[in-house]
Amino acid sequence: MPGVRREQGRLREDLGLSPSSVNGRAVELAREAGFHRAAIVDPRLLTPWADRLRSRAADLDRAPLRGLEWRWVTEPFTWAESSTILICCLSCLRTEADDSSEPGEPHALVAPFARAHYYRAAIAMLRVVAARLERESGIPRSSIRLFSNSRIPEKPLLAATGIAAYGKNGCVLVSGLGSLFVIAGAVIPVRTEVEGRPLPLLPADPCGSCQRCRSACPVGAIEQPYVVRHDLCLQAKAGSAEVLSEETMELWGARLYGCQDCQTVCPHNSGLKEAAPPSTGEIGPDISLRAFLAEDNGQRKLRFRGTALGMSWVAGDALLRNALVAAGNSRDASLLGHVERHLADGSAAVRAAARWAREKLRESYLR
Ligand code: SF4
Ligand code: SF4
Repeated sequence: MPGVRREQGRLREDLGLSPSSVNGRAVELAREAGFHRAAIVDPRLLTPWADRLRSRAADLDRAPLRGLEWRWVTEPFTWAESSTILICCLSCLRTEADDSSEPGEPHALVAPFARAHYYRAAIAMLRVVAARLERESGIPRSSIRLFSNSRIPEKPLLAATGIAAYGKNGCVLVSGLGSLFVIAGAVIPVRTEVEGRPLPLLPADPCGSCQRCRSACPVGAIEQPYVVRHDLCLQAKAGSAEVLSEETMELWGARLYGCQDCQTVCPHNSGLKEAAPPSTGEIGPDISLRAFLAEDNGQRKLRFRGTALGMSWVAGDALLRNALVAAGNSRDASLLGHVERHLADGSAAVRAAARWAREKLRESYLR
């Protein structure tokens, strides 16, 4: 099992540490570090997810699910003998306006979860937890695996704490946080202790007869409740530099990165109050298309260095492609020159988006 060090798990028990005391203390420390929720994964609650995943084996071999460490879900009782998984939620609720465009100055939009580097903030908080655990329990910091936006399947693990349930849009919902949070966690080398706790009931269906997310999705990606078609989903496409179909570009809107339409309409996300303090890597809700399209590769990289968009999971070409599509959809003909300078780009996805945007802006000019 990746990241599990059985020797260290035994060492902790040799030291006379009670797994349950470490489990409980980890949750307390996570809350003290600033996480809005924290809980321990109950391996027994992974059984239904394991069964479901096994029946979807073919799906797991496709992007974006390919490469995830599914054994954390499918083999919970192997790791639970030597590890405890702490799962935490950090709110990414934002209250500013989504779009500060003005006439003649169109902007491209960044989804709330990417407007600051919540993932990095979460890892920094977990480092504090690990340092305190080392001081208090003797568990070496270096033996604790920290993760956020990682290859560990975080959503089913969060659901297996008993504090979250899946919504029809494929997001996990937590009372008081809705789906507007990032997930982070730690694999602690001590046996999971859940025997003393009653098995939490699986959370009730949080959706009932609601279908709002399905209606709101611009591309119809939620074909069936709880199943999102990643080959259609704009969020899934936002970070990979593939050539977009004309139909997708028409529906892309002004997105630079991210899509949250199916979360914006969710009643679980209205009236939320818990939010994280200002974080590192702040981008804000939008950027000027004119400025972004005028930059060269180096300037664009520099712009996003240290932010959630500067990470390996977002291809630089994808952001440029997205900006070009947003420019086309702006119908602001004054962007034509900024679009045309990318017609000979080295990336096929960028070239295709630039050609499409040029046509859209020419049509606007001739109107
Ligand atoms: S993220 Fe956007 S495209 Fe994907 S399912 Fe939700 S609304 Fe649809
Ligand atoms: S919008 Fe409605 S159906 Fe969709 S996740 Fe939220 S509650 Fe469930």
